[in-house]
Amino acid sequence: MSKHSPRVFSGVQPTGNLHLGNYLGAISKFVTMQHDYPSIFCVVDLHAVTVPQDPKLLKEQTREIAAAYVAAGIDPAKSIIFAQSTVSAHAELAWILSCQARIGWLNRMTQFKDKAGKDKEKASVGLYTYPVLMAADILAYKATHVPVGEDQKQHLELARDIAAKFNNDMNAEDFFPQPEPLIQGPGTRVMSLKDGTAKMSKSDPSDLSRINLTDDADTIAKKVKKAKSDADVLPSEEEGLEARPEARNLVGIYAALSGVSRADVLSEFGGQGFGALKPRLAELAVEKLAPISEEMRRLQNDRAHLDGILMDGAERADAIAAPILRETKEIMGFLVR
Ligand code: ATP
Repeated sequence: MSKHSPRVFSGVQPTGNLHLGNYLGAISKFVTMQHDYPSIFCVVDLHAVTVPQDPKLLKEQTREIAAAYVAAGIDPAKSIIFAQSTVSAHAELAWILSCQARIGWLNRMTQFKDKAGKDKEKASVGLYTYPVLMAADILAYKATHVPVGEDQKQHLELARDIAAKFNNDMNAEDFFPQPEPLIQGPGTRVMSLKDGTAKMSKSDPSDLSRINLTDDADTIAKKVKKAKSDADVLPSEEEGLEARPEARNLVGIYAALSGVSRADVLSEFGGQGFGALKPRLAELAVEKLAPISEEMRRLQNDRAHLDGILMDGAERADAIAAPILRETKEIMGFLVR
């Protein structure tokens, strides 16, 4: 039985183009979980700079994610919202944990392979050690539950391995918890609208590949209409989606937006074509996203308010992480001030 009391930690990178996948796979789950657990939601700007960012835009992008958290329904008085770079424990613990993580473990990370592209020698060292920083983010708070999209599953497994190795090698039984990934429901892997086989991503150069949280109703309708599909009717059973990734994706998005299962969507649309599903899907996306993007805009115009939330969050986050970091340093045998 673990001694750790439950705590949620998760984050989103301020890399612009916040999209429907981020909302369904992550932010909407944060909103639900904040009622069940003490929760910390971070804007992971140290992660963002593992690929080049324009310093003139980064602050605004950080505020954009904070605005999205609040606009989606996270209560900053109850949960902690802050920017990763404002709490030094993340970077410090990442160094300590990078001395636990093995190169062989990192070599298996598929996200590095995808993001580094063909010439891996040119990727930043930070992109390579990204998952160690993610382990530090979670373990700096001894977080026990981590709501993320499916793309982060492998990184979470690595965080568990790093925690276990630290506890074992340092003779510090159960010092760090084994953080549990929370990955459930049809919105955990939203795929690109252009190609149902790649994940919807902020860094995809094609804007038509994703629905952005800030898209207006016409843009959403246009993107859904253009989304890749086929000429067949939708099946009535889920197995019929197996060889049809684009259909599976659109049905999954519809299900996640309406809070039902794919099977429920197929019982409504089975036997009908995309001509029936797509307009309803566009309507649903607008209905869900319009109030969020409107509130995001309002919040982004009130920079002082957003910065107040982020600075208050940083203080509260630091108050939790600093003693855990101090104890970690003592376990390591460092002199502690
Ligand atoms: P980037 O393209 O800059 O790497 P991203 O779109 O992958 O960004 P992140 O900031 O890395 O987004 O992820 C934030 C959260 O959103 C994570 O929990 C991640 O699992 C989730 N997420 C990202 N993309 C998707 C997706 N397509 N479907 C479901 N969840 C997603």
